[in-house]
Amino acid sequence: MQDERQLAILQTNLQRIRERIEGACARVGRSPAEVTLVAVTKTIPIEVVTILPKLDLIDLGENRPQELWRKAPVLPNVRWHLIGHLQRNKIERTLPLVQLVHSVDSERLLMAIEEWAREQNRIVDVLLEINTTGEVNKHGFPPERILPLAPLLGSLRAVRIRGLMTMAAFTEVIEDTRPNFSLLRTLRDQLRPELSSPLDHLSMGMSNDFEIAVEEGATLVRIGTALFAGIKKG
Ligand SMILES: *Cc1c(COP(=O)(O)O)cnc(C)c1O
Repeated sequence: MQDERQLAILQTNLQRIRERIEGACARVGRSPAEVTLVAVTKTIPIEVVTILPKLDLIDLGENRPQELWRKAPVLPNVRWHLIGHLQRNKIERTLPLVQLVHSVDSERLLMAIEEWAREQNRIVDVLLEINTTGEVNKHGFPPERILPLAPLLGSLRAVRIRGLMTMAAFTEVIEDTRPNFSLLRTLRDQLRPELSSPLDHLSMGMSNDFEIAVEEGATLVRIGTALFAGIKKG
């Protein structure tokens, strides 16, 4: 009973989010197929998380490695995304569980991942997190650090840079987030010719601002609150 109620709530929320993504795509002539919804499951109990694949939600995001360690083994047949800060001492335990790391926020972390991936004979897909708002409490590379990083990025053999990620500042005036998202796209467009990687992903947009992010080119939107509205938290 409880499960069916939660499924119905999630279905309704999801449908509304998908409509809004479609609306944003239509306004700028994009196809909704270019946008993947990453369901952010932080604070959501595992019983609820296990419902998501029934709704074809198989891209799931966690911001804390410890939460990921707990949840990923319960749901191994989905694509887990790490969207929060990764400490180097957690690389070994975390990377085997994730499909994409959105939040590579320093050269030191990048090089540590490269070293681990070479040792393991693995390819690791990552996004570089950019601090587009300049807030001091935010992780991420300063925007002006990215182009000078191109030679280093080009030298990586085991890490594949798949694109960029950012978080806008929380604001009542949602339109204010647009410059952060367009800056991320511009940086991607400037970096692309420097690398052999297509940099096909822009991870940007959360519950508050995902429509603007989609209008500005997001390929991955990370949504928690809007998806789980009405669901009891753990
Ligand atoms: C929590 C979180 C989200 C989702 O935020 P909502 O506002 O709940 O949709 C997205 N990205 C990151 C990095 C987060 O930590």
